[in-house]
Amino acid sequence: MIYNFSAGPAMLPAPVLKKAQTELLDWQGLGISVMEISHRDPIYVQMTEQAEQDLRDLMKIPDNYSVLFMHGGGRGQFSAVPLNIAGPQDTVDYLNSGIWSQFAIREAKKYVAHVNEVAHVTEGPSGKMIPSVDSWSLSENATYLHYCPNETVDGIALHTVPEVDVPVVADMSSVILAEPIDVSKFGIIYAGAQKNIGPSGLSVVIVRNDLLERTAQNSVCTVMNYQVQAAEKSMYNTPNTFAWYLAAEVFKWLKAEGGVEAMAEVNRRKAKLLYECVDNSSFYRNTIAQENRSMMNIPFQLANPDLDAEFLRRAKSEGLLSLKGHRFVGGMRASMYNAMPFEGAQALVDFMTRFENEYA
Ligand SMILES: *Cc1c(COP(=O)(O)O)cnc(C)c1O
Repeated sequence: MIYNFSAGPAMLPAPVLKKAQTELLDWQGLGISVMEISHRDPIYVQMTEQAEQDLRDLMKIPDNYSVLFMHGGGRGQFSAVPLNIAGPQDTVDYLNSGIWSQFAIREAKKYVAHVNEVAHVTEGPSGKMIPSVDSWSLSENATYLHYCPNETVDGIALHTVPEVDVPVVADMSSVILAEPIDVSKFGIIYAGAQKNIGPSGLSVVIVRNDLLERTAQNSVCTVMNYQVQAAEKSMYNTPNTFAWYLAAEVFKWLKAEGGVEAMAEVNRRKAKLLYECVDNSSFYRNTIAQENRSMMNIPFQLANPDLDAEFLRRAKSEGLLSLKGHRFVGGMRASMYNAMPFEGAQALVDFMTRFENEYA
């Protein structure tokens, strides 16, 4: 059995891949693949409408939000957000909770004059932490507040939505569909698809309709223009038709598995198991404060980094793949998105325990 802990592009549900395989040469009885028909063909359009409806059902997206399936992954949205909803002289607030936040900040600075960092990660009594919202230096006149609820590289998460008076924009690339959220608390939610939705390149954007109007005053590259893409049902230009199809299949799979609530329950159990293994050992460690620990991406370090290579080699030989931490952080990282079954976390913890007993 292979368990793939890659941070992204990441593991996809096996039943979805099997279905895609059986349908590859003959989609819906057409005798050709889904990649070979027009995106304007009614049979394809019907699939995209079902995908949107399924995502709306899964996330309980209110009617006053548009759902866009766009190009350019997560980073595409780092530019699209400021370009669509802020003016060049505006002030925008960003929480800096880790590496992806920093990339988003850097990009926003290209388009908006005043990018204010409201807070950053600090060293707390029990590890790295995000300061509480009441201590943030929020601007008086910000156009929006941007944050990344789950920092994929750092393994740092903010588990409550900041209560502020301006639209909240969230980069949910690595946490969308992992647990129930209240969409109405957000102005924009976006996510690159390759962690919890489908193949890379696609991004899902959920935008409150009143924000679409701001786009009209801004000059935005048309493929990235929210208002145009909403009006064109994400088909202003040819979408990534295969990625969209696969995302649609993942949404169907999620519904059949009991939806986001059922996923959250398993996700919590997987994370708890791994954090307990790390916390109950002096051989492994995680340096993030309890309240800001990610449920999806769990970095951990071996007390003796000389054993890293051996750890990775042995893990791989047991079918536990892609555990190497991000090059910025080092150590190990286990990413466990929805497609990772509980048994995967169990197999990892069993291996870690055996490895520790052998080398401690
Ligand atoms: C992976 C990731 C991105 C980048 O996505 P791309 O599709 O590579 O642009 C952005 N934000 C977060 C939080 C991510 O995890």
